[in-house]
Amino acid sequence: MKKKDFTFLVLIFFMCVIIVGIPAFAVRSCGVSGEKVSGPEKKNQVKKEGEMTVRVFINSKNRIEEMLLDDYVKGVVAAEMPANFNIEALKAQSVAARTYAVKRMIKFGGSGCCLHPGADICDDPTHCQGYITRAEMIKKWGIFAFYHFYSKLSQAVNSTKGLVILYNGKPIDPLFHSTSGGRTENSEDVWGNYIPYLRSVASPGEEESPKFISVKSVPLSEFIVKLREKWPDVVIDPKNPEKQMEILERSSGGRIKKIKIGNIVAKGSDLRELFELNSANFTWKRERDEIKFTVLGYGHGVGMSQYGANYMAKKGANFIDILKHYYTGVVVQKFYE
Ligand SMILES: [Zn+2]
Repeated sequence: MKKKDFTFLVLIFFMCVIIVGIPAFAVRSCGVSGEKVSGPEKKNQVKKEGEMTVRVFINSKNRIEEMLLDDYVKGVVAAEMPANFNIEALKAQSVAARTYAVKRMIKFGGSGCCLHPGADICDDPTHCQGYITRAEMIKKWGIFAFYHFYSKLSQAVNSTKGLVILYNGKPIDPLFHSTSGGRTENSEDVWGNYIPYLRSVASPGEEESPKFISVKSVPLSEFIVKLREKWPDVVIDPKNPEKQMEILERSSGGRIKKIKIGNIVAKGSDLRELFELNSANFTWKRERDEIKFTVLGYGHGVGMSQYGANYMAKKGANFIDILKHYYTGVVVQKFYE
């Protein structure tokens, strides 16, 4: 090889190092690559003297992890509420998440998570409440938004430290949902049991929720098959089922409590489940060979509406105003230092 060629190759080599190597190193040092966000994760496990800890069952790892209560609360708020919401809404969600944990915590006489003995709580949102780690937050938001959102979450959690929601001196079950559809529900209308602080209240401003109104079309044949699977004794003419359905009772929040379908009477929540509707607050009409449902709101509608909370916050309400609006007759107090 000529000396000139060799010099040229050396030059190319260094250019490659600069073009490929440096960005690769920079990306790795940002810790974007999945699980390897060891810095903040490790901090999680350092217990400070006198700090409250909670034992959380992590389903993906199939084990219990003990962590600082407020680190847990940050992971819950990140999992359960959009991080771009107003800070006062995030504070309200932080206090609700902390209250839920305290109510379950065995050290305060709670029952723990009944599915996982020894754990106070689990990270399954359908059983206890959702929770994500910092690494999962980075995956969810991306590295740059992570720093912004994490500091916002920390502000929401740290500024409400120790605060929980009490009714008659005891932590409440702080139920919440995405979007009520304009008015929340009484607990007994949804689950049958009367809970004094879970009352139906107005929830304005939810129109900005992407789930405020949704439409679901079900082909006529599928509609009939599913009805007959669920209620084998149903008598309904498959030519025009839409005309053989009648709403018998709606709840104060607008969800259907009782609906007549042919010769049977069903619950609105049964139809919601059967046709995977966003809520039991719906109407229907026939469009060609389909039954088209128009659905208002998303979720069970009991307790705090997250989009309603965000609207209140943007209108100037603070987190205590929000919590007292959605949970009737409660106080927000320090439960521990
Ligand atoms: Zn659980």
